[in-house]
Amino acid sequence: MAIQPIRLFGDPVLTTSASPVETFDKELRNLVSDLIETMHDAPGAGLAAPQIGVSLRVFVWDIEDSDGHLINPSLDLSEDLQDGDEGCLSFPGLLYETERAFKAVARGFNMHGEPVTIEGTELLARVLQHESDHLDGIVFIDRLSKSERKHAMKDIRNSDWFGTLHEAGSQPVIKISPHGTRGLGL
Ligand code: ZN
Repeated sequence: MAIQPIRLFGDPVLTTSASPVETFDKELRNLVSDLIETMHDAPGAGLAAPQIGVSLRVFVWDIEDSDGHLINPSLDLSEDLQDGDEGCLSFPGLLYETERAFKAVARGFNMHGEPVTIEGTELLARVLQHESDHLDGIVFIDRLSKSERKHAMKDIRNSDWFGTLHEAGSQPVIKISPHGTRGLGL
């Protein structure tokens, strides 16, 4: 188990669709442990494998009343929507009001290959949607309106971390607190 560097927006792995997991082996269990450890260290409420540079369909989450991991998920969403702030560990310090479905049902597998269904509303639904998006190479600012996204891109260009791509073993110097997302780093 090891804490892995979190990839920041600008790293191509975050805009690449991830591959399905085909083998439920020890390597997969190690990936799940690394994700959990890295999420807790950040700290964040969720983390997807591409955020640590692994382009596989795996994510983890840990919020007040729910935690777990999901592999090869598919989502059913309610038509009811919710508003609320959302952040991402790959965009340190930035929060934007992001519209999401109020309820989500995620079907996938656990690390042993057994089918799992996770059903959530509000924050859990938001986490499931945010993390599933990561597996499709979609980041949360893609969910904003055109004008809000433009505003977000300006904030990102002005941030100290933007453009600092990770080399293995070298952490960028982040001057904005990565903890500034009020527990909404996903
Ligand atoms: Zn994220």
